[in-house]
This record gives sequence, structure tokens and C-alpha cells, in this order.
Amino acid sequence: MSQRQNSVTFSTSLLPLVSVLLFCASLSSAAAQSCGAHGVAVQVLGSGGPELADKRASSSYLVWENGQARVLIDAGGGSALRFGESGAQMSQLDVLLFTHFHVDHSGDFPTLIFSSWFGDRKRPLPIYGPPGNDFMPSTTEFVSDFFGDKHGAYRYLSELLVPGEEGSYKMEPHNVIADATPVPAFRSGNLSTSAVRVIHGAVPALAWRIEIAGKDIVFSGDTNGEGEGLVRLAMNADLFVAHNAVPEGATGIERRLHMPPSVIGQIAADAKVKNLVLSHRMLRTLGKEDQTQSEIRKRYAGPLAFANDLDCFPVK
Ligand SMILES: [Zn+2]
Repeated sequence: MSQRQNSVTFSTSLLPLVSVLLFCASLSSAAAQSCGAHGVAVQVLGSGGPELADKRASSSYLVWENGQARVLIDAGGGSALRFGESGAQMSQLDVLLFTHFHVDHSGDFPTLIFSSWFGDRKRPLPIYGPPGNDFMPSTTEFVSDFFGDKHGAYRYLSELLVPGEEGSYKMEPHNVIADATPVPAFRSGNLSTSAVRVIHGAVPALAWRIEIAGKDIVFSGDTNGEGEGLVRLAMNADLFVAHNAVPEGATGIERRLHMPPSVIGQIAADAKVKNLVLSHRMLRTLGKEDQTQSEIRKRYAGPLAFANDLDCFPVK
């Protein structure tokens, strides 16, 4: 099959030129092969938000290690198609992590699960995400809302969830109760994950840190950037993926839900992250990259890139 590999350009300032050149060289050498064939890489499956006119899949990321797609973070609409285009297989995943259950982060979940029905997955699939409240289901509720045997919308696939039903592997959903101090979640071999609660209006939401083969990758998820948790979680991360959902100067509900570029830049600087990727790009931020970059540059000087679907970021 053909692999789409979009070229990735980082802009840099104030960094020693040599480290910039090394980082760019690693990106271009990786572009000739599938993402993460050697070492650790993050592939952006969905770089957009809820809109469709942006022609981007909604939020979703893969963490690759040595040719294995080991962690999936979120599964917004369109991400299942991108998952197939990436060459990943559901049987490879060690864990699926959710930041929250807005549609643009979770809409393709049943599509991915049903696709695995036709694959060769045998081992359980752990699924970790936030707890619920009056507005949103918990992770365990979310999975059973689709696949529970009594009331699940797709209860014809309940053998993927219900203990005792035979015929397939099982999903194993977990609710992660976190606050501003990182709490450990899934762990297996050279892979461990931890989360903090982040503020995203009234929606229970997590940011995730993934440590894999000695590399540290942090995903902000959707958040307005309030509180200390995200800086703690992202401290010294090799790669920080932050969501660029609103432009500088946003007010009202947009600002209560999302962090503007100045806040992203401050968090990246405070946490001393080594590389910054901006994703969850929306019509209100697309075309404003220069302004976004200059706001971030007032605070953070490290390599910075704007994500597109299927971009591959090797983590050196
Ligand atoms: Zn979102």
C-alpha cells in the first residue's frame, strides 16, 4: 500500500544551530520509511477539531516504536481512516488512552473496534480515560454505552466487552481519577503512562504522558491551561503536543475551554519541553500561524511545528 508521509517543518529560534540541524535531519531521513519503523515516533492521525471544512481528521495520535503502533491517544472522526492509511493494526496496540469524550476525540472509537473484529487481536485491549460527571460518561460507561450487552448501541458486539461471552478478545476500560499531580495508569514493559486532570469547561479531561523506550511524550488534550498539572506532567518532555484551538485574544466560551498561543508558549517554557507540536487546528486558528508562532516565541524558543494529518515526528 502507499504510505502518505507529509513533510514536517519545524521553525526554530535562539537554539544552537547544530541541534536544529540534527533534529531536521532526523525528520527528513525518517520520511522515506513508514512512521516509527526505527525508534519512537508520534504520528498525527487527526490534526483538526470538530469542523469538517478544515479537511482534517479530528483529534487522534499514534505512538510508534520500532514498527509497532503501541499507543493510540483519542479517536476523533476521520481517525479510523487515517489509522488504516498509517499502516497501523489494531492488534499492535498495547493501550488506548482517551483525553475526554467530546465527539471530536472519540467518534471513531466503535469504528476502530469493529475493524479489529476482522484482525488477529487475541490479547485484551486496555482503555484508560477520565471519570464521568452529570454531563459526560466515565470511560467504563462510554465503552459499555457502545458495547454493553443490555443497552449498548452496538450490543451485537458485546462479546468484545462482557466477561464470559466467548469468541473474541476483551476490552478492559478503566477510569483514571487524577488531579494536578500525575498519577500512574497503564504500564507494560518499556511503556508507562501517567495523567493529570486538566480544565476543559465542565468536561472531565486528562492530559497524558507516555514514557516509552526512554522517550517522554506529552499530549495536552483540550484544556484552557489553568492549574499546575500540565506543566508538571510535561516537565522535560521530549515532545509536547498542544492543542491550538483558539487564537490569541479569544474570549468567552472559547477561552474557557481552550488555551491561546501565549498560554501554550508559557507552559512549554515552564516545562522545558524539547519540541512542541501544535495540533487540533481549527478554522479560527488556521491561517493565523504567524501570529500564533510569534506569541509562542515570546516565551518558548525550542523547535515548533504545526501538525497536519499523518505527519510523523520521530522522537530522538
Ligand atoms: Zn477537541
